[in-house]
Amino acid sequence: MLASSLLLILAAAVPGRAAPRDFAPEGTPARYMPTRQYDLQHLRLDLAFDWDARSVAGTATNTLVPLLPGVDSLVLYAAGLEVRKVRVNGAERPFTLDPEAQTLTVRLDRGYGPQDRLEVAVDYSAHPQAGLYFVGPDRGYPNKPRQIWSQGEADLNRFWFPSWDYPNDRTTTEMVATVKRPLMVVGNGKLLEVTDQPDGRRTYHWRMDVPHSTYLVSVAVGDFMRVADTWRDIPVEYYVPSGTDEATARRSFGDTPKILEFFSQVTGRPYPYAKYAQSAVVDFMWGGEENISATTQTASALHDARAEADHSSEGLVAHETAHQWFGDLITCEDWSNAWLNEGFADYFTALYKRHAHGEDAFAWEMDDLRSSYLREAERAYQRPIVTRRYADPFDMFDRHTYEKGALVLHMIHYLLGEEGWSRGIRAYVERFAGQTVTTADLQDALEKATG
Ligand SMILES: [Zn+2]
Repeated sequence: MLASSLLLILAAAVPGRAAPRDFAPEGTPARYMPTRQYDLQHLRLDLAFDWDARSVAGTATNTLVPLLPGVDSLVLYAAGLEVRKVRVNGAERPFTLDPEAQTLTVRLDRGYGPQDRLEVAVDYSAHPQAGLYFVGPDRGYPNKPRQIWSQGEADLNRFWFPSWDYPNDRTTTEMVATVKRPLMVVGNGKLLEVTDQPDGRRTYHWRMDVPHSTYLVSVAVGDFMRVADTWRDIPVEYYVPSGTDEATARRSFGDTPKILEFFSQVTGRPYPYAKYAQSAVVDFMWGGEENISATTQTASALHDARAEADHSSEGLVAHETAHQWFGDLITCEDWSNAWLNEGFADYFTALYKRHAHGEDAFAWEMDDLRSSYLREAERAYQRPIVTRRYADPFDMFDRHTYEKGALVLHMIHYLLGEEGWSRGIRAYVERFAGQTVTTADLQDALEKATG
């Protein structure tokens, strides 16, 4: 994800030197991802989204295989969900909800093991307090469009569907989402079908066949206009609020095919998903979020021609597109390694700017990253880029993870030279595509590739 640049400017504008502080308060425990009890193989969400009631309701089916023998209960992550019924392979099973731990524990009828495949179907509804947001007209902004959109990273998807909610497992997913017309639904992967319901609602069926971490599951619901582009026969789509003129959509997102081509070249791995969509949503709390094959972007990224001269969306578009490889295809195993997502996205954005605009633009971008990191290091705190001691996963999304991460990659690039860097990055992508990684994996891939 990427912070909105306005927020960064405001944060940087605080005068004077703040007292240096510790990144994590004393006594903050080291954080590890929970041990996986099962391998999640498929997640199917059949959901109705109701803007008027600000609710979501339906069934989440997690198909999973226990990793050890004797598993007699299963833990899914769920926060604030009203669970009505849980069925395992069709039979109703007892369950408990723990609001503090944000878990849903399902008791099985016996021990199950790696030879078993369990379909855990949860019927539920929710008025989500996080993770899924309902926005629309209000007194101050009577023309604001009605939209519903999700923001799962880092651990918020559990507020609107029950599943495994840590980055250390990967699964295929599908979403069957019903909404009131004229709203439409953008999801991950390929759109299989759109069905009109007798009651006037409409159902969208999306499926993502490339396994991914569940924080990348997303939905964007709105009265969108779809602007179509292509890259090497893959649909590239820009969903913008209806009423936006097409030129504005293309002004902000139209470089996407060129950016996809560049990252496909430098990683040695052509863009690997069925389509690439970007949806512009209002009131988004970040600049963008790299939901796999279906990035969510702030509608503030849509500019008129005059504003574009001062504030282009190129960096935001490149950052989220870079994540489709670094973050989505290769995912940090835990949030202590978040720089493997964000440092890469920032650095590959800078590399794209060098490719598109030359060395001066690259030098400018790197200087920007350096100043931004130094401001945080001098005024707030310093910490190791990889640390297990953080109070909340969101604290990890700071200038150390993004800008310093990018600066470290720039140093490695300098030390390896163009040829070694290119070989090393391609080897890293080749070896870890479809997996979760730690910093040791990057080090090992680079060392093996470059000697
Ligand atoms: Zn990012």
